[in-house]
Amino acid sequence: MIEPTRRAFPRELIRADLADFAGYSSARTSAPRPAAGSGGSDHDPIWLNANESGTTSAADPDGSVRRYPDPQPPELVRALAETYGVDDSRLVVGRGSDEAIDLLIRAICTPGADAIVTAPPTFGMYAVSSRLHGTTVREVPLRDEGDRWQVDIDQIIEAVGGGSDVGDDGTPPARPRIVFLASPDNPTGRLLPPADLVRLLDEIGDHAVVVIDEAYQEFAEIDGATSAIELLDSYPTLVVLRTLSKAHALAAARVGVALTHPDLAAVLRRVQTPYPIPAPVTELTLSSLTASAAAVTAERTRATVRGRERLRAALDGHPLVAVVYPSAGNFVLIRAADAGAADRLFTSLQEAGIVIRDFRGTPGLEHSLRITAGSSSEVDAVRDILGQLAEPAATTTTIRSSERTQ
Ligand SMILES: *Cc1c(COP(=O)(O)O)cnc(C)c1O
Repeated sequence: MIEPTRRAFPRELIRADLADFAGYSSARTSAPRPAAGSGGSDHDPIWLNANESGTTSAADPDGSVRRYPDPQPPELVRALAETYGVDDSRLVVGRGSDEAIDLLIRAICTPGADAIVTAPPTFGMYAVSSRLHGTTVREVPLRDEGDRWQVDIDQIIEAVGGGSDVGDDGTPPARPRIVFLASPDNPTGRLLPPADLVRLLDEIGDHAVVVIDEAYQEFAEIDGATSAIELLDSYPTLVVLRTLSKAHALAAARVGVALTHPDLAAVLRRVQTPYPIPAPVTELTLSSLTASAAAVTAERTRATVRGRERLRAALDGHPLVAVVYPSAGNFVLIRAADAGAADRLFTSLQEAGIVIRDFRGTPGLEHSLRITAGSSSEVDAVRDILGQLAEPAATTTTIRSSERTQ
C-alpha cells in the first residue's frame, strides 16, 4: 500500500484561472447516494433534489439506474485502488485513460500559453487532446536505433527547461507543463527503463508533470517490468495512467484511472464531467475485479504474452520483414523490408480477412505495421498467412479468405 505523500503538489502547476474553481456542484456531491429504489418509507429520506424520475423504467424494473450515480462511486474507487495498490485519495476514475489525458491537459495547461511534450511515434491521443484544448505540442522524437527505440531523456529535459527564449514573432514560447510518455509504448512496444524515469523526474522537479501511461503494464509485468506506481510516493508531480481496456478485456466499458498526488486528484475531479461512470459500468467493473475474475485476467494475460512471442517467432527472419521490434505489450510492431513487402503483408492479411494496423503514413514508421496478439487461434491465422508468404511459390498464390483457418 502506498500512503498519500506528505510532499505537497506544486500549486503553480495548476492553471492559474482554475485555482479557486469548485466545479459543478451536483446532487450527489452535496448529498449521499440513496439505496437503489429507496424513498417514501418512514425511515428513508425522500429524494427530490435531482429531478430524477419517481418511478422506474420498464427497462430497469429494479430501479438500479433510476438515480444519478456517485461522481466517483466509492466501492469502485476502493476496488481499483486495491488493484493498483494505492490509497483511494490518489485515484480518479474516468471514461478510459483517454478521459484522464484530457482532464490532465485541461487542469494544467492554459490554452494558448502552455505546451505538452510528447515522444513520437507514440499514442495519438496526447496530441489530439492537446490540440483540442489549444495547447502546443512539443515533439521530442524517439531515437530510432535500428532494431529498437529510445526515449531521448536529455532532449525532453531540455524541452521542459528551455522555456525562456522568445519566439520568432517576439511572443514568449509556450511553457511545457506536461510530459507524456507511454511505457510500454504504443505502437513502438518499448519500455521506459526505470533509471531513465527517475532521472527525468529528478531533473524536471516541479517544472512539469510527468505522465506515465501504463495501458499495457499488465503484459510487461509478466516479464518482470516494474510499474511507475512505486514512485508515486517519492514524486508529487508523477501521474500514472492505467486502463481496463487492454489486459482486462473491457474496452467498451470505458474505464481508466489516473493515479496521482491527492491534491492533483482533487483538482482533476473538479474538472471532470459530473457523473462520468454509468452505474451498469460500475457493476460490470466491480465484478471484473473480484479475486476469481482477476485470476482469469492474469491467466489470459500470460496466454496473450505467449501468443505475442509466437507471433514474433513467425515474423523474425521472415523474408518480407526487416525489423521486429521488441514489445512489452500485446502487439508486435514490424518494419517491412520495403514498400512492396509492406504492401504484400498488409494486403495478404486483409484478403484473408485479418485487419492489422497500418502505420505506413506515420512519420518515423515507414513500411511499419502493428499486429495485435489476439486469441491463440487468431495468432494461428496470422502465422498461416505469414507461412504462405514466406514460401517462394507464394508470389503466384492468391490467398482467399475462404482458405483462412480460424
Ligand atoms: C489503448 C491505449 C489507451 C487507451 O485507453 P482507454 O482506457 O481505452 O481510453 C491509452 N494509452 C495507450 C498508450 C494506449 O495504447
